[in-house]
Amino acid sequence: MGKDGLVIVYTGNGKGKTTAALGMALRAVGYNHKICMIQFIKGTWPYGEIESVKRLQPELELVIVGKGFVGIIDDKSPHEDHEKIAKEAIQISKEKIQSGNYNIVILDEVNYAINLDLIHVDDVLNLIKSKPDNLNLVLTGNYAKNEIIDVADLVTEMKEIKHPFKSGIKAKKGIDF
Ligand code: ATP
Ligand code: MG
Repeated sequence: MGKDGLVIVYTGNGKGKTTAALGMALRAVGYNHKICMIQFIKGTWPYGEIESVKRLQPELELVIVGKGFVGIIDDKSPHEDHEKIAKEAIQISKEKIQSGNYNIVILDEVNYAINLDLIHVDDVLNLIKSKPDNLNLVLTGNYAKNEIIDVADLVTEMKEIKHPFKSGIKAKKGIDF
């Protein structure tokens, strides 16, 4: 059975979903494959990968949506700002997916965007339907919807057994961000 492009989902409450997607990207760069990672929920502090992807350019591209359009967005920003960013991310994802320029497109934290009602699950199902056959599409974030799990080829649930946060250990540079 030849199926060139997979739909891959990393979900669950344990750590490692975004890391797994980045690991796959790192592997694919080794074959000069082209990868685009689009971040659906923008963090408020700088992540290590923002710097490291620069070393993996041009094969790996990171799109941080909303830069210079609503300014810094954080948890205190109104719902509409987050919604605007997520909708913009869907539009960018559509363009990237349909461009035919990539082997892998990663929609990082897209499951959270659905769960927070910033976008509708159908927006994502439509992206999946419209993807070129040979494109691998990776979706991360906990609370993956059953409709997405149904159409995926690979679903891994990261399950928390222990997390240092629970014993009061703060997020660490190079490990968590
Ligand atoms: P990572 O980016 O480390 O792979 P993730 O993508 O699985 O984590 P997210 O749900 O996107 O996790 O959350 C991002 C942040 O929350 C990271 O700093 C991560 O270390 C932290 N985190 C992930 N899982 C847990 C958990 N079970 N308890 C507390 N913090 C967590
Ligand atoms: Mg993540």
